[in-house]
Amino acid sequence: MPDLFIGGEWTAALDGRTRKIHCPADGTLVAEVDEAGPKDAAAAVAAAREAFDHGPWPRATPAERAALLLRVADLLVRDKDALARAESLDTGKRLVESEYDMDDIANCFRYFGNLVGAGGAERVVETGDAAIDSRVVHEPVGVCTLITPWNYPLLQTAWKVAPAIGAGNAFVLKPSELTPHTAIMLMRLLKEAGLPDGVANLVLGTGAEAGAPLTEDPRVDMVSFTGGLATGRRIMAAAAPTVKKIALELGGKNPNIVFADADFDTAIDYALMAVFLHSGQVCSAGARLLVEDSLHDRFVDEVVARASRIRMGGPFDPQARTGPLISAAHREKVEAYVAAGVAEGAVLRLGGARPDDPALADGFYYPPTVLDECTAGMSVVAQESFGPVLTVERFQDEQEAVALANATEYGLAGAVWTTDEGRARRVAAALRAGTVWINDFHPYVPQAEWGGMKQSGVGRELGPSGLHEYTEAKHVWRNTGPQPQRWFE
Ligand code: NAD
Repeated sequence: MPDLFIGGEWTAALDGRTRKIHCPADGTLVAEVDEAGPKDAAAAVAAAREAFDHGPWPRATPAERAALLLRVADLLVRDKDALARAESLDTGKRLVESEYDMDDIANCFRYFGNLVGAGGAERVVETGDAAIDSRVVHEPVGVCTLITPWNYPLLQTAWKVAPAIGAGNAFVLKPSELTPHTAIMLMRLLKEAGLPDGVANLVLGTGAEAGAPLTEDPRVDMVSFTGGLATGRRIMAAAAPTVKKIALELGGKNPNIVFADADFDTAIDYALMAVFLHSGQVCSAGARLLVEDSLHDRFVDEVVARASRIRMGGPFDPQARTGPLISAAHREKVEAYVAAGVAEGAVLRLGGARPDDPALADGFYYPPTVLDECTAGMSVVAQESFGPVLTVERFQDEQEAVALANATEYGLAGAVWTTDEGRARRVAAALRAGTVWINDFHPYVPQAEWGGMKQSGVGRELGPSGLHEYTEAKHVWRNTGPQPQRWFE
């Protein structure tokens, strides 16, 4: 069966191109999928445009849209095992982590289903004039391009698809060319749930060939993108000539601040999870450890000792605690960051070389790596390596901790570890980041907004704002007793 989904039909790429998908854990061939180009992208936009301009979905009631989202949530639960397996084969991530992701994805659809069902999209405006009926309503934006990355393929897709259709839009989805499978499966579930043809369209392919045309097409009203900073800048520029609405979820270089009074064992445990989860391929990874000087030596020694015991392995290895990187090119990028860090004066305390275990030789493995004595100016500190690389900086006091934490062009997330409540509150308030954790790392819920300050993005996903991103406010002013105004008399 072909893999592109356009206007409710499964179709092959117009020029017949395909791409082989290999599992990054061992190089096995997962499947060969259709690879779209600009003509397929244009056809998908045309189908979405037609569905939005003339189809029933934008005109469906909130109750109808809510019911569909809740049906999709049930189907995601039904197919959880197959979806998790497909996600792990594409990404190489541990099956158990993909299973957690599938639970989160079903919850995301359920959250937006309930939010849309609760209504409240209309606001009566008090004008002070009894003759005026003034209301603000929220309408769908139109045709949305949704572009997603490979690290949490279906999760990032769900954060966009659920609110986009919940608000009544039509969309064209382009997932990462490296991880297409769960997007294909989601299209099947949307159709099974009863979404009208043309509302959901799927184009597979590279950013340049399939993604860029979707960001430039004048028939597209909005582009919602999750991915790297450089691509985000390009997308913002591509959307500018036709002034599209944009939502950008970009990278992060997130500080994890540990004060000397923090609970030692718990802070160590979370410092490891913060950065080495999914081999560091997490936008909110706590890749910058900032430790109070008096705690530094003891803390870093223990981080190194425990990180050295983290076992790498494939998605179905029950002993493994982390998996491979996504591709050979990505591993080379991570290696270059570590080499640059060492060249700039960082002290390599752990990792920094490919594993020599022959069982891992066919995957893109890279071990947990710790670079100590780092400073803010180093490229490995300033830029996102998106690998299992922890940089350590020291600070003397609260003021310096905050200054170092904020010394980044990013502003996605950050954490502070201390038993002093007042200090925790002060630091949380001072951090320029879209999410701050106090004595915790990584949790999120669909009820709360997610997104970045500074160059980590534009707009928010999840929460009520995550739905509003996909709506336009319209003010409707009705004069119930119009009289000549005689302005020009
Ligand atoms: P990427 O920017 O290379 O690619 C993301 C997507 O954009 C892919 O689908 C790709 O094909 C597409 N793309 C590339 N060039 C394009 C172009 N010119 N026009 C249109 N589309 C284009 O990012 P990636 O390597 O897939 O993902 C990793 C990045 O994603 C990291 O920087 C990470 O921090 C970020 N990320 C952010 C969040 C968040 O919530 N803020 C979540 C997950 C990932």
